[in-house]
Amino acid sequence: MVQSSVLGFPRMGGNRELKKANEAYWADKLSREDLLKEAKRLRLEHWKIQKDAGVDVIPSNDFAFYDHILDHIQMFNAIPERYSKASLDPLDEYFAMGRGHQKDGVDVPSLEMVKWFDSNYHYVKPTLQDGQTFKLASDPKPVVEFLEAKEAGVITRPVLIGPVSFLALGKADRDQSVDPISLLDKLVPVYAELLEKLKAAGAETVQIDEPVLVLDLAPKIKDAFKPAYEKLVGDKFPKLLLATYFGDIVHNFDVLPGLQSLYGVHIDLVRNPEQLESVLGQLGPNQVLSAGVVDGRNIWKTNFKRAVETVETAIQKLSKDRVIVATSSSLLHTPHSLDSEKKLPEEVKDWFSFAVQKTAEVVAIAKAVTDGPASVREALEANAKSIQARASSERTNNKAVKDRQSKVTEAMHERQSPFPERYAQQKTHLSLPLFPTTTIGSFPQTKEIRVQRNKFTKGEITAEQYESFINKEIDDNVKIQDELGLDVYVHGEPERNDMVQYFGERLDGYVFTTNGWVQSYGSRCVRPPIIVGDVSRPAPMTVKESKYAASVSKKPMKGMLTGPITCLRWSYPRDDVHQSVQAQQLALALRDEVVDLEAAGVYVIQVDEPALREGLPLRSGRERENYLAWAVNSFKLACAGVKDSTQIHSHFCYSEFQDFFHAIAALDADVLSIENSKSDAKLLKVFEDTAYPRHIGPGVYDIHSPRVPSEQEIKDRIAEMLKFLKPEQLWINPDCGLKTRQWKETKAALANLVNAAKFYREKH
Ligand code: GLN
Ligand code: ZN
Repeated sequence: MVQSSVLGFPRMGGNRELKKANEAYWADKLSREDLLKEAKRLRLEHWKIQKDAGVDVIPSNDFAFYDHILDHIQMFNAIPERYSKASLDPLDEYFAMGRGHQKDGVDVPSLEMVKWFDSNYHYVKPTLQDGQTFKLASDPKPVVEFLEAKEAGVITRPVLIGPVSFLALGKADRDQSVDPISLLDKLVPVYAELLEKLKAAGAETVQIDEPVLVLDLAPKIKDAFKPAYEKLVGDKFPKLLLATYFGDIVHNFDVLPGLQSLYGVHIDLVRNPEQLESVLGQLGPNQVLSAGVVDGRNIWKTNFKRAVETVETAIQKLSKDRVIVATSSSLLHTPHSLDSEKKLPEEVKDWFSFAVQKTAEVVAIAKAVTDGPASVREALEANAKSIQARASSERTNNKAVKDRQSKVTEAMHERQSPFPERYAQQKTHLSLPLFPTTTIGSFPQTKEIRVQRNKFTKGEITAEQYESFINKEIDDNVKIQDELGLDVYVHGEPERNDMVQYFGERLDGYVFTTNGWVQSYGSRCVRPPIIVGDVSRPAPMTVKESKYAASVSKKPMKGMLTGPITCLRWSYPRDDVHQSVQAQQLALALRDEVVDLEAAGVYVIQVDEPALREGLPLRSGRERENYLAWAVNSFKLACAGVKDSTQIHSHFCYSEFQDFFHAIAALDADVLSIENSKSDAKLLKVFEDTAYPRHIGPGVYDIHSPRVPSEQEIKDRIAEMLKFLKPEQLWINPDCGLKTRQWKETKAALANLVNAAKFYREKH
């Protein structure tokens, strides 16, 4: 029989109960005991959902209060001394590493948190010491949770991050020089001890995640697999299923022969279906294949017909008892359940599958291949009908959009003239001084703004009332900028809730959930909009506010848009057309907006692309270059419809461009603002080395903290920048938007910024 399995289930609960409980605990409004109780309730509920759906292989230890990598850090006692010496209760020590701790005389910042592969989930980085040792916690969490499930009548397959990935995803602590992978010999015995305990508790099989196998690996990392896993195979250990996801493992096939004594391998066949044939050829004679055919990263209903065909291919080669039907990755990246969505159009809702629905999908697919299609005929027929309805829906196929795309030309991506000619016109048109000052877009989102927006959403005030409130906010923002003496103004974005949702709500082809939350980090959840069909712009999206702002401003007003790649990356994309097609549709919609802004008297337009880098494919090479080519093209297509005298800005929340600077340069933006204040100014050297010809505004102060930078600090920062950039290239601005700040510190910081710019203006 072909088993069904889930690699991991979302932790938050259908109503984000874990978020609420964690936050209440942090605020001293919930006792530790009650938090633990709530967590247990959620785990039991999630196991029950999967059991009731008929899933054969149900995960445990996929739960985490904050992050599963952080769980391992604590379980292996890889806890930097600054946390352990505070002698906190283990749960508080854990949260201290995840989010910092400032209480009762203890003051420690959090460990570094970074994106989990190319997802929007963030993990806590193992942070290791020279002379690092490891020691297994006395009641290891995976054992405790396995027994908890067992007691509830559910035999689970515990999930662990594998030793090679744990180290490869880690780093040396500040001031330390240890190479994480060199610690493998010390770490493997701890895994052996843990696995023995799991076996003793009754675990037959363990899912051991080694997602680094989808990356380009240094030889020393590849070489680490065989010696590590040799020591973890034997009768005293559970059988190990090695799980990979978010990419293919073909380029690391030389690692697999060393792993043939493991029970089996899991691969992601949603992202890389083409790897199936070759992986089948690499398996050992008794190894099992876990076929990830139900997408753990997106919200679309699985195409049963296609999934069944894929699984059948594997069965033909291996036989039924050596194939498992699985989710492609953990379901951590999908919302909890579709059942709570009451406002989605019925037509569209039928195309979706969230975590709860996906558990039923693996079961149905496994049954179809075990007992034959007749055994699940109804499910297969309903699925085929839904897939067909989506493919032929008018929402997914907007002829006007397709026609327009077919007429896109190379020339539409290019500005009329090269930069020097454009700049000559912009300089006079906008009367820009040397070292122009500006901000990145948003101003403080005050409580009053949120109150009024809420009232408007609830229908408690009319559209006219809301509009006049927004206009008054804009008036105030303009006045403040007059007083500060900035050079290029912004309207402040008071009308925007979120930089992607705001645009999604004004575009055709998008839908929004009411409860489709997914964990981003810790207790923070996001609710990405969903691109369901061809995207187009039925009407201008930002022109009203920007036009008004320009009309009340005596200095140039900068229009503010979210770029095509950021709109795409911070949404759930379609899985039925390539992302480059979706990016182009978004670009065309934005192009119209850019042209309309110009016509409305807005002659500086910023198109934000903070997500450009996170869309980079995980491996270097052709796939990455392809991505950069279409990503850059979508940006250029969005921007190039304007006259030479209109100035295009773009913004990025980072300045680490080393890996793809050619793409940043290819954007051809007149001005780039980047986050830089906390980085080494040396990162700007690449602009000098490549003789970058256009203008750059590296952030001169950090906007994440309320701290006000002094005028002298800003001057010092500018002096450093001038080592790498020419005076006529340099703009003076903060790191990013100011929406999370208060007005008090914002005004003080910007006043110092303007003075620092004036100082250099006089000097040059
Ligand atoms: N224009 C946006 C703002 O100022 C940019 C935000 C971002 O880069 N993440 O808020
Ligand atoms: Zn930013």
